[in-house]
Amino acid sequence: MKKMELDAALNQFLKDEDAEEYFWPDQMAGNRTIFDYSDIVGKEISFTPEENMSADWFWSKAHVQPAPANNQYDIDFRGICNFVFAHVERELFTTLDAIFFVFNEEGLDEVFDYTGDEYALECIDMDEHIGLMWYEKNIIIINVGLIQASSEELADEFSSAASHASDGIVMTIVHELRHLMLETNVLLPEEKYPDYEATEAAVEEYTRQFADRWLLGNIDFVSKV
Ligand SMILES: [Zn+2]
Repeated sequence: MKKMELDAALNQFLKDEDAEEYFWPDQMAGNRTIFDYSDIVGKEISFTPEENMSADWFWSKAHVQPAPANNQYDIDFRGICNFVFAHVERELFTTLDAIFFVFNEEGLDEVFDYTGDEYALECIDMDEHIGLMWYEKNIIIINVGLIQASSEELADEFSSAASHASDGIVMTIVHELRHLMLETNVLLPEEKYPDYEATEAAVEEYTRQFADRWLLGNIDFVSKV
């Protein structure tokens, strides 16, 4: 949302819903934060207008766990974030608080440090899920370790594990950002973003369309060490 549209929608939301605005002293001018009590558990949401977004801004939201010593791949996380930022609609980032790239359980320690919430340590099943959108915190987590492992199973003579991992990380970010936008941005108009868009099947379809359009197997941000 552009700043004017965001302000209008947020002011209306404060009037209509059980919510109040909170003023962070060090918040970027134009950003706004609310506590929304209309949900079962009250939650904080910060909104960033499009004008305040940039590739550097998105990168400033990224937390990357250092790769384990024996990791087989070299990953250009900055390049990945720049690529995603350049190819998706700005709306996907409006409520984003942080994005974490983790290789294993230890990576969740930083999510815990950042949120101060012990649930961070069990919010994602690292053996099962390649990504997660943590609704209460407006955070997305990308399980790089599992994406690498599944990419090795997908590799064949046409496409390497590194190439699959590169596409997999990009697609997981797009997928989780789409969940984030549809589920946490309470200001979005229902007519433009109807509820069915938030179903898993619809989010997968959105991600598939992104991949068909932008990932043609020739952009690699991952290389074998
Ligand atoms: Zn999903």
